[in-house]
Amino acid sequence: MRVIFFSSQTYDRDSFLARPGVTDLELHFQPARLSLDTAPLAHRHEVICAFINDDLSAPVLEQLAAGGTRLIALRSAGYNHVDLDAAKHLGLCVVRVPAYSPHAVAEHAVALILALNRRLHRAYNRTREGDFSLHGLTGFDLVGKTVGVVGTGQIGATFARIMAGFGCQLLAYDPHPNPELLALGARYLSLPELLAQSRIISLHCPLTADTHHLVNRDTLAHLQPGAMLINTGRGGLVDTPALIDALKDGQLGYLGLDVYEEEAQVFFEDRSDLPLQDDVLARLLTFPNVIVTAHQAFLTHEALAAIAATTLDNISAWSAGTPQNQVGS
Ligand code: NAD
Repeated sequence: MRVIFFSSQTYDRDSFLARPGVTDLELHFQPARLSLDTAPLAHRHEVICAFINDDLSAPVLEQLAAGGTRLIALRSAGYNHVDLDAAKHLGLCVVRVPAYSPHAVAEHAVALILALNRRLHRAYNRTREGDFSLHGLTGFDLVGKTVGVVGTGQIGATFARIMAGFGCQLLAYDPHPNPELLALGARYLSLPELLAQSRIISLHCPLTADTHHLVNRDTLAHLQPGAMLINTGRGGLVDTPALIDALKDGQLGYLGLDVYEEEAQVFFEDRSDLPLQDDVLARLLTFPNVIVTAHQAFLTHEALAAIAATTLDNISAWSAGTPQNQVGS
């Protein structure tokens, strides 16, 4: 069976080729992002293996189906970028990796909190320049601070456990409360209440029509002045220009982003020799109290191995006529 990987990086190739049994498949690793222009590369590949910034809109799915593709195997948990109605209509099966390492993402969210709070990004640059001064580097103790967790599924619950370990008070917002959070002493509140009472807010819900721009000008007005916002969920959960205004007037004190609404245009590529065309991202990067990472929260050895194992299992199960981890049907 011929499988083509879009948006593949060397770490994808390494993690898939390390799996036993992979020799039964003909794997083609393609660094290009899937789009209308690159879809012809999938011609005569029964399976395409796609990642989060690949274009899986109806016109692209139509091209894939016409070229002989029958299975879309996502290397991600999120599937907000797939037109599931079009896939169903075209008879394309869509499978995903529902969980690979909630620890990878939760620990990255904590890394952003610690780096922002203790200004590690600034301290790193200073000491390398021979500047050993401490002005402007004052942080705060995490113990006793209130942390709001938006979305308390696998990643949100893992994040909550870590923050409970720091001695933080937990607040939560999720239409489906998780007993694990209640056992940690978390209180479920409405979103405005959570935003008003939290010193740190971390987003771990999926991007849906309901959660699009969940953090916007109106909801930002509820924040405690100087609060910290961490987004490792999806870029579309926040209205980025509204975040910039909140940073400018101090309503938002710290911002850690691993995802960005327009990330498909820039993330996963070395663009350091090119002028940055995205003015919103360029403005974000000027703030000393903002850290942007390029969607790397998932990137641990353990998560990559789990993504490869589940994806190959998904392909085998589908080819045996018993699809697993299917979405949209
Ligand atoms: P999950 O399905 O286990 O949990 C999601 C939780 O969000 C569920 O409890 C659900 O009830 C809740 N939810 C749904 N709608 C909500 C709403 N309107 N408001 C608040 N909560 C809502 O998913 P997960 O594995 O914990 O992943 C969460 C998200 O993290 C994914 O959807 C994905 O977008 C993102 N993610 C990011 C990375 C990364 O590398 N940055 C990696 C993996 C996942």
